[in-house]
Amino acid sequence: MAVDERELILTLFPGTDPELLPPGEVLYYREGERVVIEEAPFRVELFPLPRPALPRPAICEACGRPLGGAYARFFRLRVPGRGPEEVYRYVVLCEDTEACRERARPEVLRRILRKGILR
Ligand SMILES: [Zn+2]
Repeated sequence: MAVDERELILTLFPGTDPELLPPGEVLYYREGERVVIEEAPFRVELFPLPRPALPRPAICEACGRPLGGAYARFFRLRVPGRGPEEVYRYVVLCEDTEACRERARPEVLRRILRKGILR
């Protein structure tokens, strides 16, 4: 199983660049207001920001679709780290996570996931 292999590598070599691990299954779903992207054992939670007035369509980072204001949502994720300073990153995603998941490719979701685990 790819997941076991990933966990084994991380147990033996903590801090291995996720890029070097064999690919696992990428999950992308809503959990209440939050959006979760997961590739075991990594997981990031994206918190929605108040809806801004978008002057022009934004592009969803997960599926690449241009989105009008009502369909786009800004999310913020906090990057964990040892330093005292907080590091946040911002992602624009479709408001409709289920529809977005149908279109989003795993390698693109993986890139967003990495934003939340690497400084
Ligand atoms: Zn999307």
